Amino acid sequence: MPLPRRLFSPFTLFRQHAERTPIRLLLLMLMVLLPCVIYVADRYADMWAVHALDEIVAEARVRLALRQRTVNDEFELAFAGLRRLPDLLALDDRIRDEVAPRPETTPPPTPARTPAARRAPLNAFLKTFAETMGLHYAWLMDHTGMTIAASNYDEADSLLGTNYADRAYFITAMSGERGRQFAVGRMSSIPGFFFASPVRQYGTVLGVVAVKTDLPTLSRRLRLDAAFVTDEQGVVVLANDKAHIFHALPDAPVRDMPVSARILRYKREAFPELSLRPFVVRGISEKHGLTLIGDATRPALLGVTHRPQDGLSLHVAEEVGEALTLEDRRQVRFHFTALSGLAILGTLLSSIIYTLRNISQLRIIEGNNQALTRLNDELRRMAERDHLTGCFNRRRLDEAMNAELARSARSGHPLALAMLDLDHFKAVNDRHGHGVGDAMLAHVTEIIRNQLREPDLLARVGGEEFALLLPDTGEREAVPLLERVRRKVEETPLPHADGPIPMTVSAGVAEARPDIEPGRWMHEADAALYMAKRCGRNRTVRATQVPDDSLAGGDAPP
Ligand code: GH3
Ligand code: MG
Ligand code: MG
Repeated sequence: MPLPRRLFSPFTLFRQHAERTPIRLLLLMLMVLLPCVIYVADRYADMWAVHALDEIVAEARVRLALRQRTVNDEFELAFAGLRRLPDLLALDDRIRDEVAPRPETTPPPTPARTPAARRAPLNAFLKTFAETMGLHYAWLMDHTGMTIAASNYDEADSLLGTNYADRAYFITAMSGERGRQFAVGRMSSIPGFFFASPVRQYGTVLGVVAVKTDLPTLSRRLRLDAAFVTDEQGVVVLANDKAHIFHALPDAPVRDMPVSARILRYKREAFPELSLRPFVVRGISEKHGLTLIGDATRPALLGVTHRPQDGLSLHVAEEVGEALTLEDRRQVRFHFTALSGLAILGTLLSSIIYTLRNISQLRIIEGNNQALTRLNDELRRMAERDHLTGCFNRRRLDEAMNAELARSARSGHPLALAMLDLDHFKAVNDRHGHGVGDAMLAHVTEIIRNQLREPDLLARVGGEEFALLLPDTGEREAVPLLERVRRKVEETPLPHADGPIPMTVSAGVAEARPDIEPGRWMHEADAALYMAKRCGRNRTVRATQVPDDSLAGGDAPP
């Protein structure tokens, strides 16, 4: 047999459990919803972390841009000076004269005029110049690339006699441009920046003058604020962390250089890759550009400024330390959100559950109240009615008599009281038994009740004795009603197996007078009933027909 639909409604189930086991239901609901709360809190914490990181990175970008400009300016200042130094030398007469072709007529060199002797002042000048300008070297090459004068002419690793025709700065300068290059010194093996300018006479390039600033000196001068500097081959040539020098960027062009060229320029073959790992914050997959440089543990934003004029790229790093604590802060936010969510959900659920529970308890109380009201009604009915016939009892009659007397006194309307008594009722009991007597009482009651008007009140006042309170009715007006009752009883015997049992009834009626005592009034009606009995029963007698001496006294007639 299919169960009613209502049983399966989730709301009905929920309500039933809210009524019976609210605590268990609350805990169950919280347990069921816990994964949702955790999911939402996790999503929220992620969103917060993404937003927070965006803000941190945006602020860092502003700082980074400012620093990139400062670092670039500093480089510009240092390199512009260095670039111009060979220009300055190229204009010097001594230098120009030394590379100028000698006239055919020049006398053959005397011991005092050997090229070495002739170049001694120039070498001394270059030495002073290099020392004054803080340069590693300053030197002069003829058009074949051969060094003919050098600031370190008097040192063991003098450049004199070394050929630099293969160096990029030499080739560029010979073509009439300024040359520059990062390289490792051929003689000194010290890395540095080379700057070269053409030496001209009448517009013709006759040689090249070059200066070199070595890396350690440059680093000191620059107070390098950049993380590192790369040359056009992607090789780190300057770095805060000295260990990074000669590392190469991922995908650096140096890797495509022939080994011989690498050795020629850098005096090395291998260039370890500079590690640039993206910094990862849990839950944030978006690109934010934070990088861990080398072995650094603090993430940084890396900004690159290319300087084609120097063939360098400045990599400036702006540390973003706040990003390190982001994961912890995200975790705190997650826990806080999850706990608050759970608390709010718990409060909400318990309000719903307890409201449902209260509603159902109210319903129960209401039901109980209705049952009590019904019980009260029943009790009142029992208190004022006779259980055998359902008529009102003597108590209710007394109340009604008092109320109707007062009403009649106020309105002046007539009011009658009739007493009715079954004739020879004892004989029915004696002949047919008490049960039939009871049935006869109920039978007669029903007949009387059927003849009454709405406001009339019927009460059983003794064993087989009834009283009828008739509002708005005078003594005379009551007689037709009582006669009708009497005839109906006479005409309607009680059906019985041994044959119908006849019954008659006698009645006496009295009208109320202003200020009459209820007891007196009933006595007068009783006296009239007594008269009816004495006159042969089965009749109606009015109190006004009863002789005054019979009415005297307050007690019932004998
Ligand atoms: P009368 O015409 O003079 O009134 O005669 P009567 O027999 O009706 O009156 P009587 O006072 O002699 O007897 C009344 C009888 O009514 C006596 C009593 O046993 C009987 N009776 C009283 N109450 C009940 C009742 O509730 N049930 C039954 N079956 N009989 C009752
Ligand atoms: Mg009787
Ligand atoms: Mg009687």
